[in-house]
Amino acid sequence: MEKRIIYLDNAATTPMWKEAVEAMLPYFSDAFGNPSSQYSLANAGKRAIENARKQIAATIGARPEEIYFTGSGTEADNWAIKMAARAYRDKGRHIITTKIEHHAVLHTCEALEQDGYRVTYLSPDEDGVISPESLERVLTPDTILVSIMAANNEIGTVEPIEKLARMVTKRGILFHTDAVQAYGKLPLSVENGEIAMLSASAHKIGGPKGVGFLYVRRDVRLQSFLHGGAQEKRRRAGTENVPGIVGFAKAAELTFAKMKETEARERELRDYFINRVLSEIPYVRVTGSATKRLSGHASFCFQFIEGETVLIMLDSDGICASSGSACTTGQTEPSHVLTAIGLPEDVAHGAIRFTLGRETTKEELDFTIDRMKEVIGRIRAMSPCYAKFAARDGKE
Ligand SMILES: *Cc1c(COP(=O)(O)O)cnc(C)c1O
Repeated sequence: MEKRIIYLDNAATTPMWKEAVEAMLPYFSDAFGNPSSQYSLANAGKRAIENARKQIAATIGARPEEIYFTGSGTEADNWAIKMAARAYRDKGRHIITTKIEHHAVLHTCEALEQDGYRVTYLSPDEDGVISPESLERVLTPDTILVSIMAANNEIGTVEPIEKLARMVTKRGILFHTDAVQAYGKLPLSVENGEIAMLSASAHKIGGPKGVGFLYVRRDVRLQSFLHGGAQEKRRRAGTENVPGIVGFAKAAELTFAKMKETEARERELRDYFINRVLSEIPYVRVTGSATKRLSGHASFCFQFIEGETVLIMLDSDGICASSGSACTTGQTEPSHVLTAIGLPEDVAHGAIRFTLGRETTKEELDFTIDRMKEVIGRIRAMSPCYAKFAARDGKE
């Protein structure tokens, strides 16, 4: 019998929509032509890309010519930040971002510091929210770019992106948002012109891996990222990933058509899950905001355990979740996000993230909670630290 998998790591990647897989297939076989070629075999691909561009543009209220396909969300983030920094360096050398960004943004900003840019990293509050007031305080006359994520991947916090964008754009500064987690889960609109650039990725919404897009408002001076052929209006050279782009558009179509319904369903399941965990497992807290939170996102810190240990044990039951730590050079370090919201190192080590998806069922969550109670109980029973604490606390 095949091992049963309970997939609760939809913030890492998502299973593809079957329809998106099917939509891609012809572009691997009969319609394989290079969209840049002159003969009619190439036309199907060319047309498919332009249709996909229209569909994707419509999901955020953009014009098709403002959508550039990239090889990932990471690439879209890199492009937005590096190229905006270069194009506007005559205006200033100051960039603002936050301490809780994805590494695609953080490491890009750190690279720019090596090139002589000044970067301010904003701290969130304990829920992971970036306040407009804290942003206002650090804007300077030579700020050229502000990059703040729409929703956080580790703790699920949704940022007040409209307010932040308005404040920045009013001052003639570019506002970029990494919307990779938010796209397809929250309504996002660039229609009022206050967001200059927005990144998204297909594989987080049931599309294929290896394709993303960058929205670039038409007045933004954005330089070419990849130099070569004339693809993507000469700004992102390289033969287009036609099947990927087609799969992305199909996934977006289905995701947006069902967004409200999925949101409500995931929210209900998530609240059920969080409530059961909080009431049935002692010494645990939810990380991130209780209210400003992505619908399928449940993240916790359990005391007296290492997140990694629990994950390994859950994995043997076929349960896929994620911890909040990055294993670097064999040593586990608490994640930069959990540190930024002020969690002490020992608490951050007990981080576990469950991210629900459109296919998650209540029964899967019940099974997961039962396994967690067992596993966490077993690990804690071996901890002398926990025994002492529990005895004092009078819960055991
Ligand atoms: C997944 C993710 C990315 C990276 O996207 P890829 O397409 O995997 O490169 C960037 N930012 C956030 C917030 C993400 O969750």
